[in-house]
Amino acid sequence: MAPRAGFEVRGQKALGLPPVFTGIPTRDKVVFLTIDDGAEKDPTFLSMMKELNIPYTAFLTDDEIKDDYGYFRTAQRLGAPLANHTLHHRYLPALSYAEQKREICGMQDIMAKQYGKRPTLLRPPYGNYNQDTLKAAKSCGITYVPIWESEAFIGKMDYRDDWNVHAGDIILTHFRGRSEWNGTMRDMMRSLIKYLNARGFAIARLQDYLP
Ligand SMILES: [Zn+2]
Repeated sequence: MAPRAGFEVRGQKALGLPPVFTGIPTRDKVVFLTIDDGAEKDPTFLSMMKELNIPYTAFLTDDEIKDDYGYFRTAQRLGAPLANHTLHHRYLPALSYAEQKREICGMQDIMAKQYGKRPTLLRPPYGNYNQDTLKAAKSCGITYVPIWESEAFIGKMDYRDDWNVHAGDIILTHFRGRSEWNGTMRDMMRSLIKYLNARGFAIARLQDYLP
């Protein structure tokens, strides 16, 4: 898996640091869904995703999930891989190496304790990182740093590059509800599915496309 051009850090290759990418090259008409943070814990959302058999990866921040680790245990049992989104959702490039390591590796420990597995995927908060981020991530077992190409809201998409969706794009959305959105997570999913269907895209498992 090559890092996306323009998203490498100094010495990336020589140091064997995990690649940062916003999509995975493929000819299949698929995209990958990732859901971040973890504030909203709507049980009906989990049943909807199970019923429709829609794969997604959850990138979790301890501050947002520690009031109910069990919700994501259910998500995991229903098939969603859980990944690292740090302890406190800080802007990592402003932190020292030691502080970044605590943010990333500390979350690895919590994930191992709560969910029985140390994640191999990290998403740095806001998609911001530097060389220390990737060094710290590597030191505690992270192999990939997927960020995103576009972001899904209710009835609206935000794009990184152009006003379009492409094969292999990683799509970001959030565990958010009515307090931040004009609707529920189910409303967001309905809106995203409609958008993707209209363009002939399906949602595939990110892990199936990683080398
Ligand atoms: Zn986040």
